[in-house]
Amino acid sequence: MSDVKKVAIITGGTRGIGLSISQQLKADGYKIAALYNGNKDAAKEFEKETGEKAYQVDVSDFTACQKGVEKIEKDLGEVHVLVNNAGITRDRVFHKMDEEGWNDVINTNLNSCFNMCRAVILNMRSRKAGRIINISSINGQKGQFGQTNYAAAKAGMIGFTKSLALENASRKITVNAICPGYISTDMTEAISADVLQAIINQIPMGRMGTTEEIANTVSFLSSEKASFITGATLSVNGGQYMA
Ligand code: NDP
Repeated sequence: MSDVKKVAIITGGTRGIGLSISQQLKADGYKIAALYNGNKDAAKEFEKETGEKAYQVDVSDFTACQKGVEKIEKDLGEVHVLVNNAGITRDRVFHKMDEEGWNDVINTNLNSCFNMCRAVILNMRSRKAGRIINISSINGQKGQFGQTNYAAAKAGMIGFTKSLALENASRKITVNAICPGYISTDMTEAISADVLQAIINQIPMGRMGTTEEIANTVSFLSSEKASFITGATLSVNGGQYMA
């Protein structure tokens, strides 16, 4: 990389998988803007530990994303990498799911990709450079009991990724999706121990993944080494589902 550091935005970049992505991209030489929603303690801890900046931006809010990206570009410079990682679960079987549980997940996990990509894409297109990486999920590939909302959002991200990749390939912008399997974070800590053990039993590698294993994949897709990869969906799941 040149001496001028490029900027990477990681949504949900202060905790869990996003934290590891922020740390790895910092190690790769990027200036980091980590977006978060409400957990100020994690954001402060992130800034203290990494020396990088955290921004409170609700990715489900279109205007907040536009303003957030404008501020980041003013503070740090033009955005080269966008990682759409922020996500939530509101698990419930469909016949008991309410409208709020459906909308919250679609807005945070899928509409956020529209909101954030729309905020960065014009500058990336005019500069003819950029990397967009969408963190989908194994459950968007295969479906999951109690997750019609989450699986719909995560599957939507894959179609979104392919279409955006097509539209922007001539502008040298790559757009790819990563589908993590089960990774040890606060999100998976919410799953009961017996259900989690049953899931681990289905993973050929016999363990959950680490946040670093997802961050390494993001690092690769962000790098020059991945310059001919676009519209791809990379499964990082220990062999649990071979798409
Ligand atoms: P965590 O629950 O540990 O962290 C979620 C992050 O997203 C937090 O930083 C949170 O911010 C942020 N966030 C949530 N809602 C918003 C919002 N509206 N605006 C901005 N930021 C928001 O999740 P994981 O690290 O486990 O998951 C990261 C991504 O990976 C998600 O998209 C998830 O669906 C996906 N994934 C995870 C798997 C796993 O096994 N863990 C498996 C497959 C996919 P705050 O700290 O402020 O709450």
